Amino acid sequence: LSIQKLAILGSTGSIGTQALDIVRQHPDKFEIVALTAHSNWELLAEQVNEFQPRYTVISDEEHVEVLSDTVSDTEVLSGSTELADIASLDEVDTVLNALVGFAGFESTLSAINAGKKVALANKESLVVGGALIKNALQQSGAQLLPVDSEHSAMFQCLTGENRKDIEKIIITASGGPFRELNRSEMQEVTVEQALDHPNWNMGAKITIDSATMMNKGLEIIEAHWLFDLPVKQIEPVIHPQSIIHSMITFVDGSSKAQLGLPDMKVPIIYALSYPERWTLDTPRMDWKEAQNLTFEPVDYEKFPCVKLAMDSITEGPYAPAVLNAANEVAVDRFLKREIGYIDIPKIVEKSLANIQSKDSLNVETLKEIDKETRSYAESLTK
Ligand code: NDP
Ligand code: MG
Repeated sequence: LSIQKLAILGSTGSIGTQALDIVRQHPDKFEIVALTAHSNWELLAEQVNEFQPRYTVISDEEHVEVLSDTVSDTEVLSGSTELADIASLDEVDTVLNALVGFAGFESTLSAINAGKKVALANKESLVVGGALIKNALQQSGAQLLPVDSEHSAMFQCLTGENRKDIEKIIITASGGPFRELNRSEMQEVTVEQALDHPNWNMGAKITIDSATMMNKGLEIIEAHWLFDLPVKQIEPVIHPQSIIHSMITFVDGSSKAQLGLPDMKVPIIYALSYPERWTLDTPRMDWKEAQNLTFEPVDYEKFPCVKLAMDSITEGPYAPAVLNAANEVAVDRFLKREIGYIDIPKIVEKSLANIQSKDSLNVETLKEIDKETRSYAESLTK
């Protein structure tokens, strides 16, 4: 590959900052064309000084002025339209979408429509608009590479294979911090406990999604669209050590797995280097050390979010978007200590039962449904 002209959307987040560490390790492989943040203008300004992108987007307009006064030699833009436009610039080859939530959807679509190579961390894009993204991919010839560790594992296992030979995808889940609690203990869990993930250090939203296991539900929908497989062929399995990142079983009964320490830099660099592999200075597994790799089934009673997500795929074209919007609101309210942990699935379930649309999937209605669901879910939290 020649030098990749890279736009990192959400460069101040957990994935964004790790991606910039990779760029630091391979300065000759990248030119940073654009960096974006929502409100953390201080960190964004530091990143701009270091990487000198041509464009800088701060999506929360409140911080444009102070950012513009702090940085130089970059065009400072603001707003959600600009965030989507930046992904389709002629000067950009590769877009790493590390935004969180529905806010990332339009950038993914815009990058794909413009035929970019898209390294996708923003799983919510595929959850809310998987069919639209798939259509856009077919028409534009863009390339969509998963950053999510499970999907990177699946993608790596599929190298040299025929997609038609997949019998089943086994998507592993750590089970999060509350795997061993019973229902009544779950009523008591605090924000601090939910933010303390046993294996991964991530942004707040996905950490709560991991604690409710909504994350696994979202990832099943993500895998469904990425690998064109019905949900019944995607099986979640609890694997508390997070060493096997996912597996594929083929029609002849053989299974392949991808293994490694839980470290997001590995799937991030793979999405950027593919079809090559590049060196990465990060801890390695010591296979001589005793390791127990254990597996158990998902308890759908304890973690209703997984089923709500899996079922949403067959409940109409907008059901996954309703699920996603209600979940975003519920997680936000939980983080603000306004609702309890066990209220999250209740808000999602009620929203799914109450918000419906008959339209076939399109961007305008998708945005309306997202908005309508948010205000309905907000009303449930009052
Ligand atoms: P973070 O919360 O750490 O970072 C999110 C980034 O998006 C920040 O740069 C943030 O800016 C920006 N942002 C937040 N809200 C908005 C908005 N409304 N409009 C525009 N930009 C916004 O998230 P993560 O890095 O943890 O996750 C990013 C995505 O990657 C998510 O979809 C997540 O599910 C996925 N993912 C993350 C993993 C991880 O290990 N973190 C693992 C697998 C997938 P600011 O800093 O200014 O708030
Ligand atoms: Mg994941």
